[in-house]
Amino acid sequence: SAEPASAVPASFVPASAVPGADTVIRLVSVDRTFGSEPPVHALRDVNLAVRRGEHLSVVGPSGSGKSTLLNTLGLLDSPTSGSYWLDGVETNTLGDLERTSLRGSRIGFVFQSFHLLPYRTVDENVMLAEAYRRPRPGRGRAGRRARAEEALDRVGLAHRIGFRPDRLSGGERQRAAIARALMSEPALLLCDEPTGNLDSENTESVLDLFDRLSRQGMTLVVITHEEAVSVRADRRVRISDGRLTEETR
Ligand code: ADP
Ligand code: MG
Repeated sequence: SAEPASAVPASFVPASAVPGADTVIRLVSVDRTFGSEPPVHALRDVNLAVRRGEHLSVVGPSGSGKSTLLNTLGLLDSPTSGSYWLDGVETNTLGDLERTSLRGSRIGFVFQSFHLLPYRTVDENVMLAEAYRRPRPGRGRAGRRARAEEALDRVGLAHRIGFRPDRLSGGERQRAAIARALMSEPALLLCDEPTGNLDSENTESVLDLFDRLSRQGMTLVVITHEEAVSVRADRRVRISDGRLTEETR
């Protein structure tokens, strides 16, 4: 039988046990520089708090630091100075294995390209999210299949089980990629230009899904340069030359 959906590695302090449990992301005075002569300041004194269930969009021109910010939030990069709390865990002091484990259990990534394997059905693609994880009770093939079908149902694709990606629309493919990201029950979805390959109708179906996930308590950070996408967020920040500015509406 499947484990409870909320299962996370026991080695982490549950978010509810620390102050600010409703804050999934907290960046405090984060700087990221690359090189030294002269250093490139990709992030400058970035302060950001994102609440659980909040949908934040980040807009900014090319080279402004968007990817560095997303890599930092995704534990793929570390601040040169400043601190990052993720879901109640102070990440600065973690070792590589702990960072990898925390990334795997708390973060889902969604990209502009869907990266679905063409010769596998969508459900097999979603199941592959866990193919290389160490087997645990309830995480055998039957358990994985059940949870993949549940994830596909959650993104509105139950009727596409057994289909190959080439029979799906662009929006359906991106929603399948989102289902794959949901398999680890992440607290946070980091999306880099998630609608960059989609026309307006398919973009709409992905934005509707973001709304639904956000209402269910998922925290979303969406990088986009599309006005129509960023206006659907609860809150919008701009990044320019490594500095974040809050937009007031
Ligand atoms: P964006 O995603 O908004 O286009 P990036 O975060 O990729 O911006 O880059 C911000 C700045 O940091 C740019 O000036 C870029 O050249 C620099 N930068 C990013 N990554 C590296 C790196 N690994 N080494 C050196 N410079 C980098
Ligand atoms: Mg970028």
